[in-house]
Amino acid sequence: MNQVDVIIVGAGMAGLCAALEATEQGSRVAIFEKQDTIGGSSLLSGCFMAFAGTNFQERLGIQDSTASLIEDMLTVGQHQNDEALVEAYGKHQLETYNWLVAHGIQFQDCQAVSGHSNPRGHTIIPEQAIYTLRNKAVENGAILYLDSPVNRLIIKEDRVSGVVYEQNGEKKECFANSGVILSTGGFSQSEEMLHLYAPQLDETIRLGGTGNQGDGLKLAASVGAWLIDFPNLKGTYGFHPNSSNERKRQAHTFYKGGIIVNEEGNRFVNESISYKLLGDAALQQKQRTFQVFDQTVMNESVKNDALYDFDLLYSENLIVSADSLEELAHLLRIPTESLVQTVASYNEGIARGKDMYGRKTLTHTFGSPLPIQRAPYYAMETVAAMLATYAGVRVNSRAEVVNPFNEVISGLYAAGEMVGGFHGAGYMTGSSLGKAAIFGRIAAKQAINKLSDRNLASKNC
Ligand SMILES: Cc1cc2nc3c(=O)[nH]c(=O)nc-3n(C[C@H](O)[C@H](O)[C@H](O)COP(=O)(O)OP(=O)(O)OC[C@H]3O[C@@H](n4cnc5c(N)ncnc54)[C@H](O)[C@@H]3O)c2cc1C
Repeated sequence: MNQVDVIIVGAGMAGLCAALEATEQGSRVAIFEKQDTIGGSSLLSGCFMAFAGTNFQERLGIQDSTASLIEDMLTVGQHQNDEALVEAYGKHQLETYNWLVAHGIQFQDCQAVSGHSNPRGHTIIPEQAIYTLRNKAVENGAILYLDSPVNRLIIKEDRVSGVVYEQNGEKKECFANSGVILSTGGFSQSEEMLHLYAPQLDETIRLGGTGNQGDGLKLAASVGAWLIDFPNLKGTYGFHPNSSNERKRQAHTFYKGGIIVNEEGNRFVNESISYKLLGDAALQQKQRTFQVFDQTVMNESVKNDALYDFDLLYSENLIVSADSLEELAHLLRIPTESLVQTVASYNEGIARGKDMYGRKTLTHTFGSPLPIQRAPYYAMETVAAMLATYAGVRVNSRAEVVNPFNEVISGLYAAGEMVGGFHGAGYMTGSSLGKAAIFGRIAAKQAINKLSDRNLASKNC
């Protein structure tokens, strides 16, 4: 079929939510996916989606609200976020959570993670979520083309009206009545773009969907899109150095009460801030860094959680333990006296209510730090990973791509990780999968509404 209503480029969380929304509204949809499997980074993700005021939270007795979620996003983003996009997230987040639940997405748990003033990281099982969305969209009539990278956009009568894609080595065209939605993810797998835009991250380990090579940014740029947010490219702190896409090993003991020290055994940062900012701080050290914690924190391990399953990492010898801090320092090959002194002064700070790095909470404004004093003691060597880029195409709150003069590029929409401007200088956990779902749906609705407007206008002519 080379004429549909909506073309979607990329089958991750954003593209599949767009596809399901569009097919539910009766549109004919074609989804083009570059790889031979769907899911991109969404399938590899740590599972958290940020929603507030849900019935899941209510069942756990967690009080939260859209206003608090918005405030956290803006605070964590140091008010460098595009407020209109954050407002749109707030406006549609609860409805999108309920929409996902109604379509069979199973939420498992709810945790306080980076940037949360209340536990609002709702966890999904990525395979369950991605394949459920795909199955429903395909049941509704969406056609999914695998191994079919989109290489060019087609412009007709000043509108983006189709795409050129490749299939079995052949170039083909497909046209869309309503519009083209780009949802190709970021460029965490493009060494060329990463080095160009974020050379400071050359040393980070690389994770993310294999197909995420910035194609959507290039396609949008080719028709005049404004690209923004590159200075905010950051690594994510919390990974064991042996991590890979096949074996992601991450622990955020610092959000449960651990501290972070460098090779000299010294702390260097307030551990409760966004893990993107922790990534910056750790990279500036230019040396190995470690999470250090005690049995009290170890007891907070959450089975099967992407960030908090400390027992799993311990069982794989990625977290090491010792009966005393001296012995731990020896294992890590860092100065004993300095580690002992660092922990003592951290504990003293807690007792006095005055931490030398200003730490007052566990994560963001949530929780209270506890002294590190209960043997055995634990540590994990930890690095930053480049796993998601978040810089890219500028869109308005209707997911329409705009040019440098803030004018809408007719027929072109973008959603998910390839959009810039949303997170600002930091990052609230769960807001990337969250924005992929929310703005994927917004893009689909807007494309369909625009078509009805155009049809109405042509009838009236
Ligand atoms: C290890 C890891 C952990 C993470 N944890 C979390 C988390 O807990 N919470 C959270 O909110 N975020 C998390 N993220 C970030 C989040 O997963 C992504 O930002 C989000 O899934 C992006 O969704 P998307 O739909 O925009 O892109 P993706 O899911 O990456 O999908 C993009 C798709 O587009 C395809 N594509 C690319 N180019 C083309 C082309 N030219 N033609 C056709 N198809 C193309 C790709 O192959 C891919 O399948 C994590 C990321 C990683 C890697």
